[in-house]
Amino acid sequence: MSGANDELIVGTRDKRGDWRPNEPLQTGPLLKFPWQPLKVVAWLPKYLFPYNLAFFVVASILWLYTTPSRETLKTLELSWILYLFFRNAALIVLFFGAMELRLYVQRRQGNRYKYNGTFPKDKPSDVFLFKSQVIDSVIRTFVSGVPIWTAYEVGLLWAWANGWGPWTTFADHPVYLAIIAFLLPLFHEVHFWCVHRLIHVPFLYKYVHSVHHKSINPSPWSSLSMHPIEHLLYWSGTLLHLIIPSHPLLVLFHFQLTGPGAIVCHVGFDKIEVGEKKSFDTHAYAHYLHHKYFEVNYGDGNLPLDKWMGTWHDGTKDGDMLMQARFRKKKERMNASRDKSA
Ligand SMILES: [Zn+2]
Ligand SMILES: [Zn+2]
Repeated sequence: MSGANDELIVGTRDKRGDWRPNEPLQTGPLLKFPWQPLKVVAWLPKYLFPYNLAFFVVASILWLYTTPSRETLKTLELSWILYLFFRNAALIVLFFGAMELRLYVQRRQGNRYKYNGTFPKDKPSDVFLFKSQVIDSVIRTFVSGVPIWTAYEVGLLWAWANGWGPWTTFADHPVYLAIIAFLLPLFHEVHFWCVHRLIHVPFLYKYVHSVHHKSINPSPWSSLSMHPIEHLLYWSGTLLHLIIPSHPLLVLFHFQLTGPGAIVCHVGFDKIEVGEKKSFDTHAYAHYLHHKYFEVNYGDGNLPLDKWMGTWHDGTKDGDMLMQARFRKKKERMNASRDKSA
């Protein structure tokens, strides 16, 4: 939480109406060498609160109170499969819908802390079905996103109920499972980075990932607005639970991070105001820059993967210049190889 809601104290709005924070984005210190333990300790609260912890709490409630019994899950039946589908759909409506309503329909904080100064609704575009980013994204979310997420979830819970895979229990291995829970968001970041980098290969970009990039000015419903093949790849990371010893609660946590959790990067605002003087950070800027510039920030920077690969953009003017220099070099390389083959 931070005090005083004046976006010009912590950021700058340019002539085009776009806002950027003054502080450069930092990548997490966990894999920065030489290792600095104090920086890691200082980073931990930001890593855990509020998002990862909140999604763990949601997963725990789902697991303890709203998941069918092991006996039921043993046999594939339409009734509990549909139940899980509607449970997932309801979670999406709750998380995405609440943010959309507050920030984009009611516009409760105007465009304060909004990276792109305009709202998608004010600029209808032919790239979207019915010229609407929201309608297009809602259709993609519910027609392929939630069904593919549910299919993975059904498969994993069915495997657990039947004892297929190296499942364990909190009674037998509490510390191990706590460590896996702690690492799961980082695993997701690595998996997402790899899948994301892959679908930026020109052929896959053209036929698959360009769907997600139609949202140049991302808003909550852009989060899971993807081509079905991207949905398949995106949730393939949850198959981890069939490879390492795991527990169904962690399966549900993984799906909360990747389902409702996708909104954390797509909300379009740097801070969400709570009352007149308080606000909380969204952690959306790194991925916003990806939607704006396409070939930067394939990950969200908890791990320095983009830094290692030279694709990190820290959101500053210096970051812009580094990116432009990289794009220029890439263009020169492409021109040179074209001249050679001509
Ligand atoms: Zn995105
Ligand atoms: Zn992308």
